[in-house]
Amino acid sequence: MTREKLCISCGRVKPIDDYYTHPTNSDNHQRRCMECDKARQREYYIENKARIDRARKAWQKNNYDRHIEHCKKYVEKRRGEIICTRY
Ligand SMILES: [Zn+2]
Repeated sequence: MTREKLCISCGRVKPIDDYYTHPTNSDNHQRRCMECDKARQREYYIENKARIDRARKAWQKNNYDRHIEHCKKYVEKRRGEIICTRY
């Protein structure tokens, strides 16, 4: 006999094999089916990617400012000689 379980996410009853195992849940299985779990992970990845991209852009901007500062100092040292192509 195949055990079945109600998915809390999509609300469908699916065979227990459609659920990932979970060590501490009462029936040792996730409350979301694999399909919903995958969708959730994909969403999480997309959200995270956006967050990481934002952080990277901010970092690049900060670093660019630092780079410009560094170049300014360097340019002053070299008496106005253009040594930085990005500046
Ligand atoms: Zn589901």
